[in-house]
Amino acid sequence: MNPAMVQADVIIVGGGPAGAACAAHLKKNGVAARILDKKVFPRKKICAGWISPDVFGSLACSPETYPYPLTRIDRIHFHLFGIRMPVKTRQYAVRRFEFDNWLIRRAEVPVHSHQVRKIQKNRSGYVIDDQFACRYLVGAGGTHCPVHRTFKDPLQLRPDRALISAVEKEFQAPCRIPECHIWYLDQGLPGYAWYLPKKNGWINIGIGGKQHRLASRGTTIMKHWHNFIHRLLKQGFVDHHPGSPKGHTYFLRHKPVDLGRENVFLAGDAAGLSTIDMGEGIHAAIQSGVAAADTIISGRPVCLDHISRFSLPKLLTAAMKKTSPHA
Ligand SMILES: Cc1cc2nc3c(=O)[nH]c(=O)nc-3n(C[C@H](O)[C@H](O)[C@H](O)COP(=O)(O)OP(=O)(O)OC[C@H]3O[C@@H](n4cnc5c(N)ncnc54)[C@H](O)[C@@H]3O)c2cc1C
Repeated sequence: MNPAMVQADVIIVGGGPAGAACAAHLKKNGVAARILDKKVFPRKKICAGWISPDVFGSLACSPETYPYPLTRIDRIHFHLFGIRMPVKTRQYAVRRFEFDNWLIRRAEVPVHSHQVRKIQKNRSGYVIDDQFACRYLVGAGGTHCPVHRTFKDPLQLRPDRALISAVEKEFQAPCRIPECHIWYLDQGLPGYAWYLPKKNGWINIGIGGKQHRLASRGTTIMKHWHNFIHRLLKQGFVDHHPGSPKGHTYFLRHKPVDLGRENVFLAGDAAGLSTIDMGEGIHAAIQSGVAAADTIISGRPVCLDHISRFSLPKLLTAAMKKTSPHA
């Protein structure tokens, strides 16, 4: 055994929203945890950065306490088969670069810059790369999480049909159209495209679609990206080509989910929990991180019943609350 091995009750692999929320909840309840992340924070994350108001509730704080610029979204224009439907609502947008940095700092746990490669089980728990040992292990390393890779068989399989391919670009430009637009099923895209203007002149645009449907139609997410940019230029959303996007994959939530066994837990994208209708993954990451922490603290099985599989019902309820004369 390595005499310099770092010991902890809990090691969390990945310091994104799932890992940071898990660490914060453990810390609040007196359990010592450490985060290992291959990147140094603040780090970039491919994401549109839309968050629903409940995210702040799950973090036990209010939007007013957020220390970085926070964009308030009061209306979303949904487009379906050429018809535009403006919906009043109350949502928010952040830049992930800032949001994730805030989350990991407020967890106040040690963060090690370390890329996890090999995880072994021994009699007292788990050993990571012969450098870290723990009793409980939380896999919050996103889609390609090494904890998922090592323990996927006893835990759960994320089915191929739930895989989303997405590309996005965030850039600063003069904002010609100040509200958020979402195009569903546009030009055969098995998913949706978005235009999301944010504070300080940032604009996030992107598209995401089910990978197995794209493949069966003989197309790619990049072909749809080019069509989408053409539309944005033609309709005056942007006045110049924004350049090449970055891509990432993640999984929508499917029914049977087993997130914890033998003191190993998965949270966030490692488990594949994004909502089926809008691919919202930040809130589920936070909720599942807290749920894993709760299980470690209480010994009760992981409960995901409170994590919604859909975003639209709440988004539309927020719309109704906003238009109600009593709101
Ligand atoms: C294009 C796109 C747009 C999206 N838009 C939205 C949106 O607007 N709203 C929304 O709610 N969701 C959105 N999502 C989904 C959302 O980004 C994810 O669901 C969310 O980031 C999941 O958080 P996480 O903590 O599970 O993983 P992540 O945020 O991916 O964090 C995982 C961390 O693990 C670290 N890591 C990975 N491997 C290792 C390793 N081997 N060793 C150590 N560390 C490792 C990484 O460096 C990273 O910091 C979008 C996704 C994409 C791809």
